[in-house]
Amino acid sequence: MSEHGSIFGAMLKEFDGAARILKLDPGIWRILTHPKRQIIVSCPVQMDNGEIEVFTGYRVQYNITLGPAKGGIRYHPDVSLDEVTALAAWMTWKCAVAHIPFGGGKGSIVCDPTRMSKRELEALTRRYVAEIIDAIGPEKDVPAPDVNTNDQIMAWVMDTYSMHVGHTETAVVTGKPIEMGGSLGRREATGRGVMIVTREAARHLGFDIQGAAVAVQGFGNVGSVSADLLAASGAKIVAVTDWKGGVYNPKGLDIPKLLAHTQQHKTVAGFAGGDPLDADDFWGLDVDIMIPAALENQITMDNAPRIKAKVLTEGANGPTTPDAHKHLHERGVFVIPDILANAGGVTTSYFEWVQDRYGYFWELDEVNTRLEKKMIEAFDDVLQTSLKYKVDLRTAAYIVAISRVGNVTKLRGMYA
Ligand code: NAD
Repeated sequence: MSEHGSIFGAMLKEFDGAARILKLDPGIWRILTHPKRQIIVSCPVQMDNGEIEVFTGYRVQYNITLGPAKGGIRYHPDVSLDEVTALAAWMTWKCAVAHIPFGGGKGSIVCDPTRMSKRELEALTRRYVAEIIDAIGPEKDVPAPDVNTNDQIMAWVMDTYSMHVGHTETAVVTGKPIEMGGSLGRREATGRGVMIVTREAARHLGFDIQGAAVAVQGFGNVGSVSADLLAASGAKIVAVTDWKGGVYNPKGLDIPKLLAHTQQHKTVAGFAGGDPLDADDFWGLDVDIMIPAALENQITMDNAPRIKAKVLTEGANGPTTPDAHKHLHERGVFVIPDILANAGGVTTSYFEWVQDRYGYFWELDEVNTRLEKKMIEAFDDVLQTSLKYKVDLRTAAYIVAISRVGNVTKLRGMYA
């Protein structure tokens, strides 16, 4: 595993910065910077044309000190073991910041799902699960959806696992359809968490979320729910962009109407309730809050100097490059880091796992109330840590995570 030019290397850089401030014990440092387990499997699948293809799959359990590994399964043609390992490490820190009893994991299959039929995808999913079956389970490792996987794929994961163990086991995976053990509120949970931490940040900085101008990049699951809930809290969503274009209205966009438009046209572009917005002009907008909720590496030194927002909430994973983050922090922009800002999703996945294990399902209100409490606690923990150590919130979030995982590692001691 290269430490240079790799995504895992970037994770290590962030980790090292926080570990140095913490004066982390060198032994614990060594343990926390190594993945516990990396599994590589070959998954043969008979394709619709009769030919057999072999797909490579990964499952990385980065750390299971606090509980079962937790993390999504990604289907993508370019995914590598380095990337999956970094993502599994980030899940470890995210679960620790959210203070839920999970470790971090991630899985992937190197494939292009857009070129596969539903039958081929089902066969590939089932074979992948069969190949990693000994390593997963409600007490071992609990996968979830990620890029290019969805609730149907999670249903196949659950069914394959259940067939192998001989009984229905809903708690092996989260992000399932509601009718087979999914949780109410899971779909909206990441956006809801983004709304909660943004609102808390505004409160901390002393400005009113009512009437605050917000710009959102990405209008998928995270972006659209964040925009919708912030608008419902009284904020003014003035700009939204997606992969095809953008829309701007300084008086505030009508989000329910924009959602209806997007459902019909598969893009926000062309929405009549605002003016077209160029992707590049988005970053210089005069707004109070900016929410990148699309892809990684969107905020670089090319656009960071133009950002005027007071708060930048990272709905996406890794949307800000390290240089750009440093620049924004030095300019006083309050950056809420991804491992805190988008932790609402995994927190509600934890609620789903709890409900499955109880066999008792909560009302939506209960899910949302518990999520609100967890997100406010996580925000306060990170904020207080940043004030105590006089560091940015990303470093503070790492300090919180490393302290929690490190302390339990010490308490558990060394098994030799
Ligand atoms: P999604 O596929 O539902 O939506 C992605 C959105 O980004 C779409 O609107 C797409 O058009 C837009 N987009 C793509 N390229 C763009 C570009 N170049 N410029 C502007 N917009 C662009 O995905 P999602 O589930 O909303 O996830 C978004 C991000 O949030 C990802 O980084 C994901 O890892 C992260 N995340 C998601 C969850 C979750 O629960 N869904 C949880 C944690 C983190």
